[in-house]
Amino acid sequence: MKQFKFEYNGSEDLAQKLLEFKTRCSDTEKRVFQIYTEDLDPEKIAEVSDTVERVFPNDMYFGCSTSGNIVDCQLAGTISVVCTVFERETTQFRIFQYDTSKMSVDEIAADIVEQSKLNPWVKGIEMYFTIPQCSTTRFCAGLKDVAPDVQIFGAVACSDDITSDDSCLFSKGNGYSENAILVVFYGGEDFYVESINLTGWKPLGRKFIVTKSNGSVLYELDGIPAYRVYKKYLNIKNDENFFYNTLEFPLFYEHNDTTILRTPVSSNEDDSITMSSDIDVGSVVRVSYGDPATIVESIKQDSLKIAEFCPNVIHIFSCAARRAFWGDKEPTFEIYPLSGIAPTVGFFSHGEFIRAKENLNQHNVTLVFAAMREGRKRNFEVKTVPMDENLQSKVPVVSRMATFISVVAQELEDTNQKLEMMNEKLRVAAIVDGLTGLYNRKEIQSRISKSLEKVKDEKFSLIMLDIDNFKQVNDTYGHQEGDNVIIALANILNSKDKAYAGSSSAGRWGGEEFMMLLNNTDVSSAALIADLIRQCFAHITFPLARKQTISIGVTQAKADDTADSLCTRVDTALYEAKRTGKNKVIVF
Ligand code: GH3
Ligand code: MG
Ligand code: MG
Repeated sequence: MKQFKFEYNGSEDLAQKLLEFKTRCSDTEKRVFQIYTEDLDPEKIAEVSDTVERVFPNDMYFGCSTSGNIVDCQLAGTISVVCTVFERETTQFRIFQYDTSKMSVDEIAADIVEQSKLNPWVKGIEMYFTIPQCSTTRFCAGLKDVAPDVQIFGAVACSDDITSDDSCLFSKGNGYSENAILVVFYGGEDFYVESINLTGWKPLGRKFIVTKSNGSVLYELDGIPAYRVYKKYLNIKNDENFFYNTLEFPLFYEHNDTTILRTPVSSNEDDSITMSSDIDVGSVVRVSYGDPATIVESIKQDSLKIAEFCPNVIHIFSCAARRAFWGDKEPTFEIYPLSGIAPTVGFFSHGEFIRAKENLNQHNVTLVFAAMREGRKRNFEVKTVPMDENLQSKVPVVSRMATFISVVAQELEDTNQKLEMMNEKLRVAAIVDGLTGLYNRKEIQSRISKSLEKVKDEKFSLIMLDIDNFKQVNDTYGHQEGDNVIIALANILNSKDKAYAGSSSAGRWGGEEFMMLLNNTDVSSAALIADLIRQCFAHITFPLARKQTISIGVTQAKADDTADSLCTRVDTALYEAKRTGKNKVIVF
């Protein structure tokens, strides 16, 4: 597999160069021409594509509009032409162009999945979109059923105006379109492709949750208007430089197990922010920072991984925002480390696509590399990068500050979590009895009062329980055995597997006295439950105290009850049970 670039001056010159190239071409090769254009004028594009077609009538071409063309890691001319030559007989490629004004994204995605099954040789799918009017998230989700080992990558066709929706794409036989999705299948037995993405941007400090968003408009982070977060934490003003100032601090979040960046494009009147693409509500985001030295270093590291793959060509999709980020530097200078590995071709885009673990995601501010190769790897010597001794001292100050901020933010988060846990413990301690884990008297009283407020709509009953001759247990077997008996009864009342578990609240009323509130239960059901508890307790054999019994009073709340009248009634029933011989249930 090889790549040839054509530097030309006008279509006559291009024709000359193509003819000259043709003399060196072999009939057994397959060729495809890629045409990337910063100029959206259909006539100018046709001039170039017609020239290619005239000289190579049997070969395919495709291309799209861009925000800057990249050839061999350099910014290339306005309309750049590159030819990829496949040398292996087994290598195949196919081009599909879908009209998004005639087909829904769901239909297009379904057809791509279908085509990938009909062409099982496919190993890499390259995609180009004109600026989508529709949800790319849905389109991406629609491609989930493409076989998991197929790499998917690509970018949004665009123009060099980041705020403009103008874009086009084209391919041989399908023509020029402003509403289309172009798909190229690459594959074959001896064809290999590997795609990776990287940003070099690092997360910074605290997390925010997206609490309100709609498509690309981000309304709120943690309930605060999104712009105010940028104002408060970064002091970025709402002026004409907003885009350039926020570019160094896009939002960073995890989605489909991969990290994604979204950059603010503009701030709106209502303090919402229009982002480069959509972010779902519920996403946990962090502001990230782009530090030139860190970015360059991480691209250097990743370029080693690409080198290890031994690609014949590399397709590059870089975000136009990166171009803006580097300002007066060469727009492609960050990707120079790739130039020693293989010929490259690609462009600056407004949205980059890459599949990670079956899920296709749309990124921003990202570099996507698709490395392709025919045949086995050449003998590759894995060069371990010598650890730069000065690296530690060379870490730029911003990078150290960012580490400092992130560590402090993490410490704060940990402390907050501990505080939250302590608060929760305090909340529980305030309403729960320490020995038994049942509600304390105050809590059960408050629940009785609340149930009384709506007793007209929802009946309820109370049962009061008291251990018989408990003083004797303490006196004969000791306080510890007494506690065991109390806990055993509490466990029955609090049991999760009893029929009353879901509709009851049980509390310790005092010493060895308990109160249980049964919602939605009339007095006869309550009496049955009470007797069940009585029997259950009577069956327990304690290590020293052996068998013990309880007495129970039962009553149902009436519409004119007060908490006092109700409790007095259930207490009277319990007293009656004691008076008439204990180990029984008495209903008032
Ligand atoms: P009756 O059958 O009439 O209920 O007689 P009783 O002996 O159970 O009643 P009494 O109210 O005279 O005794 C209750 C005893 O419970 C007195 C007290 O020492 C004991 N007690 C109260 N709280 C606890 C506790 O948390 N642990 C233990 N072991 N004993 C407790
Ligand atoms: Mg007792
Ligand atoms: Mg008692």
